[in-house]
Amino acid sequence: MSETKGSETLGFQTEVRQLLHLMIHSLYSNKEIFLRELISNASDAADKLRFEALASPDLIKDDSDLKIRVEYDAKKKLLSVVDNGIGMSRDELIDNLGTIAKSGTSEFLQKMTGDSKKDSQLIGQFGVGFYSAFVVADKVEVDSRRAGLDQEQAVHWESDGQGEFTVGKSDYAERGTRVTLHLKKAEKEFAEAVRLESLIRKYSDHIGFPVELADATKADEKPHAVNSATALWTRSRTEVSDDEYREFYRYLSHDFTDPLAWSHNKVEGKREYTSLLYIPASAPFDLWNRETPRGLKLYVQRVFIMDQADQFLPLYLRFVKGVIDANDLPLNVSRELLQKDARLTSLQSALTKRVLDMIGKLSKDDDGKKYQTFWNEFGQVMKEGVIEDTANKDKLAGLLRFATSSSDGQLQDQSLADYVSRAADKYDKIYYVIADSYATAKSSPHLERLAAKGIEVILLYDRIDPWVMDALIEFDGRKFEDISRGNLELPESAAEEGKKIDPEAHKALVEKIAKELEDKVETVSVSQRLVSSPACLVANEQDLTPQLRRMLEASGQSLPPSKPTLEVNIEHPLVLRLEAEKDAVRFTALSHILLDHALLAEGGQLEDPADYVKRINQLILDLQPGVAAE
Ligand code: ADP
Repeated sequence: MSETKGSETLGFQTEVRQLLHLMIHSLYSNKEIFLRELISNASDAADKLRFEALASPDLIKDDSDLKIRVEYDAKKKLLSVVDNGIGMSRDELIDNLGTIAKSGTSEFLQKMTGDSKKDSQLIGQFGVGFYSAFVVADKVEVDSRRAGLDQEQAVHWESDGQGEFTVGKSDYAERGTRVTLHLKKAEKEFAEAVRLESLIRKYSDHIGFPVELADATKADEKPHAVNSATALWTRSRTEVSDDEYREFYRYLSHDFTDPLAWSHNKVEGKREYTSLLYIPASAPFDLWNRETPRGLKLYVQRVFIMDQADQFLPLYLRFVKGVIDANDLPLNVSRELLQKDARLTSLQSALTKRVLDMIGKLSKDDDGKKYQTFWNEFGQVMKEGVIEDTANKDKLAGLLRFATSSSDGQLQDQSLADYVSRAADKYDKIYYVIADSYATAKSSPHLERLAAKGIEVILLYDRIDPWVMDALIEFDGRKFEDISRGNLELPESAAEEGKKIDPEAHKALVEKIAKELEDKVETVSVSQRLVSSPACLVANEQDLTPQLRRMLEASGQSLPPSKPTLEVNIEHPLVLRLEAEKDAVRFTALSHILLDHALLAEGGQLEDPADYVKRINQLILDLQPGVAAE
C-alpha cells in the first residue's frame, strides 16, 4: 500500500509502552473489541470532518459521502478499517498514536493489579482505543491524509507494538485514514467474512455512517453496508432493544461493564432535543480529579459538535455519560457561545431533572441491589449535590443512603424515609452523629442514652458530611439534630419521668473539675446523655463540629479557638471515685484524664500526649501491688 521514503523511527511514550504491555496481557478474553474501537475512531473521524466542513465546505466537496469500510484478505490475514473522515497530518499522527494525552494516565497505570480480570475492567474504563489493535495483530500500519492537505503530505505509520514506531511518507491517495492489521496466526478469524459481519453488526449498528464489508481480493465486487447506519438516539424508543442500548453505551464510554440505567427522551415543543443518558455501574478511576474532561457528546441537528460538553449537567453529575442532540442550537455553537446561550439554563435544569428521576427510579428497583451499587460508587458525589444544587435539594435528600445505629455494619443502605417510618410518632427529629470513621461513630459515647431509649441515630463519617448536614435542615417536616451538640433534648418515656439526675446535687464536684480544666473547657456539666462512658465532649450550638475543625486545620486554615463543654456521667464509678478523692494532686490528674479520654473516644488527638502518659504512669505506680489469685 505504502512506501516509506524518508522515514523516521520514534519511541512510544513510556505510558504507551506500559499500556500496550498491559493490554496485550489482560484484554485477551475480550480481544474482539479492537474492532469496535477502530470503527469508533473512524466514525469520530467522519463526525469531525462533517463538523469542520460546516465552516470550510471545500474540505468535503470532492467526496461528501462519508462512510467506513472494513476490508479483509483471509489468505494474507489482513484486516483494514478505512474511513474518509478528517485524517491526520504527520504531527497529529505522531502525537495521537505515539503518546497518551489523557490526564491521570500514570494514576491509572498505578492502579493496575496484575489480575487480568480486574485490569481489563480498568482498562475498559480508561478507554483502550487504537492500541487494542495490537492484541490481535503483530504489526499495524496506518496511512492517512488530513482533509485539506494534498497527497504529498499523506503519512505512513507502522509498528509491531514493541516500543517503537516508524513514520514516513505515504502514497495514500484518499482523504482519511486506513488502518491495516497484520493479524497474528491465531487470530485469522478476524479476516473472515462471516465473523466480521456479525461483529460489525454487534458493534456498529447504531453508528450514523454506513459500515461496509469488502473482500480485498475481489476488487470488482461491490461492498455492501452491514449496519443500519442510523444513529441510535434518533430511533424511537420502542424500536431499540436493551442490548442495543447497552452496546451504544460501550461505544460511547468504552466501558466493558453494562450501565446501571439509561433514559432516552425526545422532547418536542419549545425546546427540541433528544437526550440519551446513562448511569455507569462503576466510578471512573478519575472521578475525583476535577480537571478530567467530562460531559455529554453534543450534536446539533445530528451533526457532531463536541465531545465532553460539560455545560449540560452540574458538576456532581459528572459520572453521567450520554448524548444530547439539540435541534435549536446553532450549528456553529462553541463552548464559549454555549456558555452564554440563554437556552442552556433550561436545558440544564431539564437534563438534571431527568438524571435525578432516573436515579430515583433506580432506587425503587425491586431488590435494591442496583441502587446499592450506585450508592457505593457515587454516593459521595451525590452528597455534593445536596450542597451545590439547592433547587433539587429535597429530591437529593430522598436519594441519600446512610448507615445507622440500628443497621448492621458499615453498609450505607438506609434512606431518610426508612428512618422516618421507623421513628413514626415515637420521636419527631432525625438524630445524627458525625465522626471521623464508622467505628468512632458507632461507638460514640453520645449514642448511649439514645440507644437506651431505642432512638435510632444516623452515623455519618464521610469527609463531606459536615457540609451536607449544614445544607440539610429538614426532611419530611422533621428537623435534623446533631446529638453531639449542647442542649440535646430527648423525648422522655413515662417510666423515665422524674428519674432525671439533678445537676444541683453535684454542683460542687462539677465546679471543682471546671476549675482544674478551665484552660481547656468552657464549662463542665452533668450529662443526661451518657450511660456507660464516664464523660464526653459537647460542641456548642454555634461551634464547628470537631471533625470539621480538624479537617479545616489540617488543610492549613487557622480558626479562632473554641472550647467544648465537658459532660460528666455522674453515675459512672470513675466519676464517683473522683467525687470521693481527697488528694488534691490526684484530683487534678484524674480530671485531666477524664477530659483526655473523652477526646480520644471521639477520635481526637491529645494536645500534650507526653503529659497524659506521665499521669497514667503515675497512677499505675500508685497502685498497690496485687496478690495473684490462687
Ligand atoms: P481515543 O479515541 O480514545 O482518543 P485512540 O488511542 O483510539 O484514543 O486514538 C487516539 C487519537 O488518534 C484519537 O483521539 C484521534 O485523534 C486519532 N485517531 C485515531 N483513529 C483515527 C482515525 N481513523 N482518523 C482520524 N484520527 C484518528
